[in-house]
Amino acid sequence: MDPLAPLDRALQHARSWIGSLGRRQVRPTASLESLEAAFGGALSEEGQDPGEVVDLLARAGEPGLMATAGPRFFGFVIGGSQPVALAADWLTSAWDQNSGLYVLSPTVSVLEATAGRWLNGLLGLPVDSGVGFVTGGQMANFTGLATARCALLDRAGWDVSEQGLFGAPEIHVVVGEEVHVTVLRALRYLGLGQARVKRVATDAQGRMVPAALGPVLAGCKGPTLVCLQAGNINTGATDPMEPLIAAAHAHRAWVHVDGAFGLWGAASQRTRAQLQGVEKADSWAVDAHKWLNVPYDSGVAIVRDEALLRRAMGTSASYLVKSSGLRDGVDFVPEFSRRGRGTPVYAVLRALGRRGVEALVDRCCARARRFGERLGGVPGVHVLNEVVLNQVLVRFDPPGGGDVDAFTRQVISRVQADGTCWLGGSRWRNQDVMRISVSGWNTTEEDVDRSVSAILRCAGRA
Ligand SMILES: *Cc1c(COP(=O)(O)O)cnc(C)c1O
Repeated sequence: MDPLAPLDRALQHARSWIGSLGRRQVRPTASLESLEAAFGGALSEEGQDPGEVVDLLARAGEPGLMATAGPRFFGFVIGGSQPVALAADWLTSAWDQNSGLYVLSPTVSVLEATAGRWLNGLLGLPVDSGVGFVTGGQMANFTGLATARCALLDRAGWDVSEQGLFGAPEIHVVVGEEVHVTVLRALRYLGLGQARVKRVATDAQGRMVPAALGPVLAGCKGPTLVCLQAGNINTGATDPMEPLIAAAHAHRAWVHVDGAFGLWGAASQRTRAQLQGVEKADSWAVDAHKWLNVPYDSGVAIVRDEALLRRAMGTSASYLVKSSGLRDGVDFVPEFSRRGRGTPVYAVLRALGRRGVEALVDRCCARARRFGERLGGVPGVHVLNEVVLNQVLVRFDPPGGGDVDAFTRQVISRVQADGTCWLGGSRWRNQDVMRISVSGWNTTEEDVDRSVSAILRCAGRA
């Protein structure tokens, strides 16, 4: 038997899965029991034919999948994969390169160096910033903040890599009230603690209030780290970068920007103004598996001063063949052995070009506005945020009166069960809301309209 036959099976299953995305129920339909019956049990002694294993994964697995890559998935802020990115991801797996060292994969090294440079240009960041390809926004935040920790303590005459944090000068950490949990989690991992942060007030859209930062900075004597946000996970709003970064830098603080999805706004002329000044920060986190629509897991850590990134992350050992002047991936990220996850990023950027990325961002924003206009025009349905990017927050009055929070939660459950589209809920300013996020390349106006009809039906407003 052909040992490569499972690859052909996988291709067929992948085509059929992707082909079904626009037609199938968006939510998973399999029960836990049926999935456990298919996949549970004891590990066999004898094993099984590899082709059958691939068939089993597809046959029994698909009913338990969420159609996140489909055109009517609006949950969280995650887009599906573009075919070119998926294809490049397959090659990445087929090539099976260890992307830690140049000598182990010159091709991946060059692809990642180029993709990094392109990303910097596309996002309007300093072109020679250091770029590390990590697993996601969480690790991009970790990498940026680890570099900040190292650089701030360096300046204070303390080598954290050698000495650790015991006895080190204190680092003051400033975040907005709307800080994402992954920033707090990164601070935790870095020994900076998530409860000792100083929080700065935010406005009605969740943007940090510049006038509120000054007094907080005044209380920070010594090394200071300021974490800003581009793209609030609820409203999509971005902190006013220009005044905030100016104030932080006047205080000699390091500024890190969590821009997991919001930083993509800088790739379009129509949304760039919202991020005015973001390029002046010291480090940035952005996700490729969100709005650039590459497969998981793909985040990007960017640091203005590449030497600092390498100093914080890099490693050496006698058996490692480091290539002076060439890009060894291991020096840019916390990982050691690593898949060449910059390859799908390279492929999608090459395929779309600047205009294509801009069109992707614009299209999603336009679809979000359409959701806002269609839903907001219906009596008893309220859009809570300014739809400035790809996020829409909605609340529903019960047609017969009653508890708006409870009814809004109920509408969300009904929509999820209905299966036409999928979206989730959130709390915004002490209110339950439906959160709609348009982050996929393949959502059409018709998908929006079908979804709006389903939502209104579930809200008793059809
Ligand atoms: C999604 C998100 C993250 C975390 O990114 P992952 O890729 O899920 O690790 C961090 N910050 C913001 C603002 C996000 O939207």
